[in-house]
Parts: sequence; structure tokens; C-alpha cells
Amino acid sequence: MRWVTVATEQGPRACGVWQGRYVDVNAADSRLPSSVKGLLALNGDDQRAARGAVERGTTSYNPGASRLLAPVPDPQKIICIGLNYRDHAEESGMPVPSEPVLFSKYPSALIGHGAPIVLPSVSNEVDYEAEMVVVVGRGGRFIPVEKAMEHVGGYAVGHDVSARDWQLNKPGKQWMAGKTFDTFAPIGPELVTTDEVADPHKLGIRLRLNGQTMQDSNTNQLIFSINQLVAYLSGIVTLEPGDLIFTGTPPGVGMARKPQVWLKPGDVVEVEIDGLGVLRNPVVAEKAPG
Ligand code: MN
Repeated sequence: MRWVTVATEQGPRACGVWQGRYVDVNAADSRLPSSVKGLLALNGDDQRAARGAVERGTTSYNPGASRLLAPVPDPQKIICIGLNYRDHAEESGMPVPSEPVLFSKYPSALIGHGAPIVLPSVSNEVDYEAEMVVVVGRGGRFIPVEKAMEHVGGYAVGHDVSARDWQLNKPGKQWMAGKTFDTFAPIGPELVTTDEVADPHKLGIRLRLNGQTMQDSNTNQLIFSINQLVAYLSGIVTLEPGDLIFTGTPPGVGMARKPQVWLKPGDVVEVEIDGLGVLRNPVVAEKAPG
């Protein structure tokens, strides 16, 4: 199943993508949750019931006329992995890590497919990063690596927008500050459940800036695999349904180019992952405060 969160007059609504429509799952069966996070927390039988409800549902939205939020707009945690592709660590002038490099974003950074990335007026070096996002299904703590894939609910296309001047040039190289400006975490359009993804470690991942390919790699290049990341993170925090894990970006970011490339108003960025979809966001300037 592919789940989306549609912005409606009744607020955010979880919908399954079915026969070219977004079908409201809670409207089809009021015992089912109205959020994708709630759906991810269901046991197997109830998840099957949710899929059945989508197939029978009659309240639906036209994708062409809908505004999408991030598939999970309200996660408890957004955990990001830095330097998880060997070539990207090298192009960044950083050592290839021996353990995952972690930072985080806040949910206020999340936007959906089609929503604008807002360039902060306080940054002059906003960069792009194509990333696969792992969405936690069943939560847990101290999850063994051999059971870790059972805790994955699905996958989505993500974009780790990064203000390099804040990430790297502030005292202490404060990654989080550079990574969590509002709108710096586009995700979507859809959450694709694990049964629809044959091998998440073998997906082409690309980023196009105004139609020009800037990143072109494959998730088979990940240094730390999905199961290793889930196990590692669950040794630090309790993972909850709907938590989002950005898994790192391949080479080709703007910072590492000569000359360097920074996002500017009017740009359009597309991130594409095989089988997961295309996430497209325009870039706009921040309006002056007040
Ligand atoms: Mn990243």
C-alpha cells in the first residue's frame, strides 16, 4: 500500500492510494486511525483491515487537486544519518565513519511534495541532498540487527536540505542548526510499505536541479545498512511508529562542486528513488519578517 497525508478542510487525513485516488481510510471505517502514524502502529490484522477499507472506501480526493503534507507529518523523532555514502564522505573532506554519524531535524522542518523550500534570509549557502527515508513501523528498544527489518513500516523519498554556512562555519560545527530550518525536510509524495519494495538496498537514487541530474547513485552504496541503522539507533532511543530515519546522501552535492552550487529562488528540485516516486519542491526566498 502507498499512504499519503492529504491537507483537507477537516485537517490532515491519512489516505491510501487506490485506483488513481486518495481514499480516506478513517472515513471508510471509523474504527481505523485518521493518521499514517496511527496506521503504522496497528498490528498485522488491523493493517490488513485498513487496506481493505481503502479498497471499499467512498470518500476520496483527486490527486491533481490535493495538497500533500509529509506522509508522516507528526513523527515523534526525525533522526538523520550523516556521511553514509563513502564517496560523499570523501567529497566532503570527512573520514569514512566507523559508526553512524547522527543529527536530527524537528517536525517543523517537514513539508510534502509540491510545497516550497524556503531559503532563510540568514543563509547564503543552502544545499540539496537526496535521501531515502526509512519509516519505523513497530517500535522498540535494543532491537537485534537480524530482527531490525521487521520494525520497518515503509520507505519514502526525502530531501535533507542543508544550510552549509550554518552546518559547518558556526562554532562547534552545529549540524542540527544548519539542517532544521523550517521546510528543510521535504518527504513524499507517498509512504511505500515494505511489501511493495523488493530490496531497499538496491534502489537507484537521483536528484535533479532544474532538470539537470546532480546526484545519481544507488542505495547499495550505503555504508550502514537499514537493519544496522535501526539496531544501532534502538540502542540509544526507543523507536516509535512513524519515526523517520534519513539514511544519508550520495555524492554530487552543491558544496563539493567547482564552482559550488547553492539553491536559489525559482529553482525546482526533484528527488527520485526507484519504486518510491518523485519528490518535487520549488525553492522560494523567505519573506521579510513582519
Ligand atoms: Mn544528509
